[in-house]
Order: sequence, then C-alpha cells, then structure tokens
Amino acid sequence: MDQLTPKQTQELRSILQSTKTKLEQQLLDAESATGVVILDQSTVGRVSRVDAMQQQSMAVSTRAKAQDTLRKVLQALLRMDKEDFGYCGQCYEPIQFNRLKVQPQASHCLKCQDQLDHI
Ligand SMILES: [Zn+2]
Repeated sequence: MDQLTPKQTQELRSILQSTKTKLEQQLLDAESATGVVILDQSTVGRVSRVDAMQQQSMAVSTRAKAQDTLRKVLQALLRMDKEDFGYCGQCYEPIQFNRLKVQPQASHCLKCQDQLDHI
C-alpha cells in the first residue's frame, strides 16, 4: 500500500475541515431541535407527544453520532499535525487513500477495522 502524498494529505485535510464545520453546525441545530420538542410537550396531545419523544430520542442519537464523528475528525486533524496521519493504529500500515477519501477520520485500515467491528 502506498503512503499518502502531500497533495493527498492536503485534500484530506480540507475534507476533514469541512466535515468539522458541518458537524459543528449540525450539533448546534440538534441542540435547538431538542429544545423545541421540550417546549412543545405541554401543548401537544398524547399521540403527538409519543411522536415528539421519538423525534427527540432520534435527535439525541443523531447528536451522539455527530459528536462521536466530530471527536474522530478532531483526532485525525491532530494526527495530521503530528504527521502520523494515514497510518493504521493497529498494524501501522498506511491506510489506503480511497478509504480515507470516504472516511478521512478513519484510524484503522480496512482489515483491522473489520476485526475491531467483530470483537
Ligand atoms: Zn491495520
């Protein structure tokens, strides 16, 4: 597997930075969305309250996911600054550029990620 060229790293950095901005915005939106649901609860009926609660729990899990991804994105940017970005955290092989393009925050190569997912 090939190591990343400076140009590829640069490309991934800009993807990471726009993902970071997008997630931060999404988290702000999610915050105001859950706020609205809480306000609505006193005025809505039973059925729509269930709806509202489902929506709220969906918003909470979306937010948890966004927070998790944001954390990984920030870690990837840190790794980039320390110049150990693009290597698998387990086998230390370079991670394929094609994988990083889809998921620049990935910290493991496909093979190790697959193992981790099945533990
Ligand atoms: Zn690996």
